Amino acid sequence: MTQAKPRYLETLHQAWGQSFVMDEVLFEAKTEHQHLVIFQNAQWGRVMALDGMIQTTERDEFIYHEMLTHVPMFTHPEPKSVLIIGGGDGGILREVLKHSSVTSVTQVEIDAQVVEMCKTYFPKHSDGAFDDARLNLVIGDGVAFVNDTDLSFDVIISDSTDPVGPGEVLFTSRFYTGIKRCLNSGGVFVAQNGVSFLQTDEVLTSEQRLSPLFEKVGFYSAAVPTYVGGIMTFAWASQDLKPNGLDLNSLQARYQQAGFKTRYYNPGLHQACFALPQYLLDAL
Ligand code: SAM
Repeated sequence: MTQAKPRYLETLHQAWGQSFVMDEVLFEAKTEHQHLVIFQNAQWGRVMALDGMIQTTERDEFIYHEMLTHVPMFTHPEPKSVLIIGGGDGGILREVLKHSSVTSVTQVEIDAQVVEMCKTYFPKHSDGAFDDARLNLVIGDGVAFVNDTDLSFDVIISDSTDPVGPGEVLFTSRFYTGIKRCLNSGGVFVAQNGVSFLQTDEVLTSEQRLSPLFEKVGFYSAAVPTYVGGIMTFAWASQDLKPNGLDLNSLQARYQQAGFKTRYYNPGLHQACFALPQYLLDAL
């Protein structure tokens, strides 16, 4: 009788979770900061998990990376300097660098081994982006960086793990205060903020912590299949740029002008993604 293949059980939620057949474990280690595993799955291609939480899969990564990147990048009139916190798999970096206005990207990722392993096992995620001359890759803690740096940025994207382990500090007022100090006038900050149906408190906490610091705070969403439990929510904070502040014609003009293809993001979806479910509006 053939041996059943092992399954990876996501442990993000205590009483419920998804599982993946592991056709092959490609890499597994306890890094300096977290438990890292990369495995092959027939449905999703290569999959990475950190500390029991699914981070990214080859098959659906484009949805999350396009929406976390292009919603702020097409809203800003001319984003030149960008800061990415986390994002060790390189997907956000790949999408940011598609914008020809970008002259410099600083990426602050706490775990060097995540970057190295993703370069090896997820080459299409970064697609050469880690070799781009515009990149300054810093291995360090995002909260320390934003509170210490002399640099300032037009767009800041927090592509962190969930608020567990090293990612926890990236959902604190101290982090958001640091973001405020290094965000240029006319700039915008966005962050992954969990699956709001299951992690509603994380969205509420973000709003409570961002609202005292930023004039314009909001949320948008996208359906990311392997972030299970419903829509994936993204936080938006700016002193100047309203969430969903651009009309469809302007978005379409900027999208055409950009001259690159997307697989999930488009101007119509950009407008629609700020419409939130009533349960979330009632909670906010
Ligand atoms: N898309 C995923 C999600 O929504 O959960 C996130 C993917 S990315 C792999 C998350 C990255 O955040 C990881 O590479 C992790 O090492 C990094 N990270 C966690 N805490 C951090 C911190 N305090 N400073 C910088 N990077 C951090």
